[in-house]
Amino acid sequence: MTEILNVEHLKSYFPIRGGIMLRTTGYVYAVDDVTFGLEKGETLGLVGESGCGKSTIARTIMRLIEPTAGKIYFDGNDITHLPLKKMRALRKHMQMIFQDPYASLNPRMKVGQIIGDPMAIHNIASGREKQDRITYLLEKVGLKPEHRDRYPKEFSGGQRQRIGIARALASEPVVIIADEPVSALDVSIQAQIINLLEDLQEQFDLSYIIISHDLTVIEHICDRVAVMYLGRIVEMAPYDVLYTRPLHPYTEALLSAVTVADPDHRKKRIILKGDVPSPINPPSGCRFHTRCQYKTDICEHEEPEFKAAGNNQWVSCHLR
Ligand code: SF4
Repeated sequence: MTEILNVEHLKSYFPIRGGIMLRTTGYVYAVDDVTFGLEKGETLGLVGESGCGKSTIARTIMRLIEPTAGKIYFDGNDITHLPLKKMRALRKHMQMIFQDPYASLNPRMKVGQIIGDPMAIHNIASGREKQDRITYLLEKVGLKPEHRDRYPKEFSGGQRQRIGIARALASEPVVIIADEPVSALDVSIQAQIINLLEDLQEQFDLSYIIISHDLTVIEHICDRVAVMYLGRIVEMAPYDVLYTRPLHPYTEALLSAVTVADPDHRKKRIILKGDVPSPINPPSGCRFHTRCQYKTDICEHEEPEFKAAGNNQWVSCHLR
């Protein structure tokens, strides 16, 4: 397989300004040295607690946030500092689906225009062809052609997310980054949207990055999962490997919270002590040491290397 997207040592820091002169007094280390690749046709899950930097990675890849350091490659080309005009054109190939489908849809635009605008912006279709393509996409996401004349407020949450997906597909992308695509929806609707994303991936040959705070949401759709903690990836592995043999204590704790239907395989829930430390002043050594039940002296002072552990599994922990 070939990689369609790569990020190498990506950093996104946000300055904190204070005093009368508004001098920079510190930084929020939102994303701090993250490296991963996305294969063509693959679905990579990015999981972790809220505030761990998952969404910042998505926005940095899309260059909605400028990276502080590191490299972003799309289809082998370095796009880290691509001029904005060229980057806008490139967004035709990389689209986002957002958490809140209502907030991300213009309430004053009819559905047909919401889906049709990207086609016009990227010179994909106009006139009759554009109208036919709007109909085609509405049907592909499980909506009806007549829905084009309605406004977002006339739809349920699940239907609005379908409109958001149709809009993302309108520019014929090859990569879609979905930021918590179902967390605002009822549980009964979540599976429908995940199934839809799976079907569309096959039909349109898409590669996905799916961001979620909940491992169960991405369980059935992801090929690989990267677990994030305080701006860093602490473990990355194929989903089945990660699920059956988590190596990082944080992954272990996240998985222990997942409900297992089979009573013979119920795991003891690991309750993480304390709150997530501030990304303004992350702990020294292993960033997880303030909450880790296996912590030893070295953990407080020395940062563990992110190393291969076999089976395409990578982990950052002194114990492994
Ligand atoms: Fe826990 Fe130490 Fe491993 Fe960090 S390096 S996860 S503190 S055992």
